[in-house]
Amino acid sequence: MDYPSIRLFIDGKWIEQAGDPVVDPATEEVIGEVPRATLPQLDEAVAAAERGFRIWRTMSPAKRGDIIRNAANLLRQRAREIAQVITLEQGKPLADAENEVLRGSELIAWDAEEGRRTFGRVIPSEPAFHQMVVREPIGPVAAFTPWSAPTSSAGRKLGGALAAGCSVVLKASEETPAGACALVKCFEDAGLPAGVVNLVFGNPDEISRHLIAAPAIRLLTFTGSVPVGIHLAKLAAAVMKPTVMELGGHSPAIVCKDADPKAAAKLSASAKFRNAGQVCISPTRFLVHDSLFDDFADEFVARTSAIKVGNGFDPATQMGPLANGRRLAAMEEFVGDAVRNGGKVRVGGERIGNRGYFFQPTVLTDVPKHCSVMNVEPFGPLALLMRFHDLPEAVEEANRLSYGLAAYALTNDSSAAAQLSSQIGVGHFAVNHFGGGIPESPFGGVKQSGLGREGGSEGLEGYQTVKYISQHIARP
Ligand code: NAD
Repeated sequence: MDYPSIRLFIDGKWIEQAGDPVVDPATEEVIGEVPRATLPQLDEAVAAAERGFRIWRTMSPAKRGDIIRNAANLLRQRAREIAQVITLEQGKPLADAENEVLRGSELIAWDAEEGRRTFGRVIPSEPAFHQMVVREPIGPVAAFTPWSAPTSSAGRKLGGALAAGCSVVLKASEETPAGACALVKCFEDAGLPAGVVNLVFGNPDEISRHLIAAPAIRLLTFTGSVPVGIHLAKLAAAVMKPTVMELGGHSPAIVCKDADPKAAAKLSASAKFRNAGQVCISPTRFLVHDSLFDDFADEFVARTSAIKVGNGFDPATQMGPLANGRRLAAMEEFVGDAVRNGGKVRVGGERIGNRGYFFQPTVLTDVPKHCSVMNVEPFGPLALLMRFHDLPEAVEEANRLSYGLAAYALTNDSSAAAQLSSQIGVGHFAVNHFGGGIPESPFGGVKQSGLGREGGSEGLEGYQTVKYISQHIARP
């Protein structure tokens, strides 16, 4: 398929200009060029967002909801064609890419409705007073989104910010720009006024510094790694701007002693290698009760060996390439460090071929806790299997790291499930499945995994401020 021409979108106009190459991770071939926004163009985007905000915030929530819902519908209708560009630029299997777009559409559709429910409250008062609390849009937002889910990650931010009444300057990933362009086109075609959403690409550091410092930008929202999140939060703190941060995880999955080891291993292996493990809530540390460890590990290894790795356009492919060369190098480093320290590779552990960023689905056991992969989010197809003897030990290991995004338990023992869900510090806890959040549920982490929530009835709060209004009513 042909890769579309990538353009900036500023003040309702698409702008084509020179920039940097975009690479197909399955072939390492250059498939396109992503424009590099200049500083004056960033200023134009901010000015457009300021003008767009004045229009958008005064439109009724119902009218805003209509436009956002139209965009969600267009995204759903175009899912198959958008999936093609995502697979080409990001690598994930075509069916997964289509699911990503459909999920993005659902998240946006939820926000379209939720925007009509941003109720305030009336405070009972003395007869001579009216007192109320109202929720108002915070203002133009700078949003930064990653390459792991090019359309749904950006869609979730646009849906939340727009439904709250904010305008946006979106800097999507330069490595997967077409998915973001297709998303923004849906909003344009849905009737969004010019300037309400602007899309830029370029040098991430330059853009984030410039946008965060711009006085008109009132909030920063970012999805990506913990180190970059901390860096951006410091820049925002220097100008007293709030942030919504959706950062990384190193999720534990606790397989309790009552679990069926084969069924648990089957479920776990299929969850681990989704999007080649490049998912923020991907289960990484499988803590397995000592009594079932061997059976679980054997089945997990068998299931992992059977995964078909290949080009995402091949219908037989279950796992595509990693999205970029950095991930490939990171996997090699994680595995090398683990092996040098006594860890065992039960299956995988190596790059596949020498063209395309393919890496074997990998299972490691006996990895010492000081190894990097036991402490840093692998964001790739690495599963770490560990034993535990009792629940307090599992809870201690689950809580050991500074991440707190997601955790899982596989058990039908309701007491064990309750103990684990209350004692493990995360924002997302799932029992007997590895599903992500749904549009109705809030998503986000605790500790260094993030600040604020996206989705659910909490999802618009980050994009709003509250104002207390009290009025003394003049006596007749
Ligand atoms: P990275 O830490 O350099 O970048 C992470 C993301 O932040 C990328 O999208 C990048 O374009 C962006 N970024 C980097 N510097 C930035 C800056 N100064 N201003 C604004 N944006 C900036 O690493 P990477 O190699 O792209 O990704 C690897 C790590 O990122 C993974 O190990 C994983 O931990 C994390 N990640 C997390 C998510 C998530 O959904 N939470 C998504 C993608 C990547």
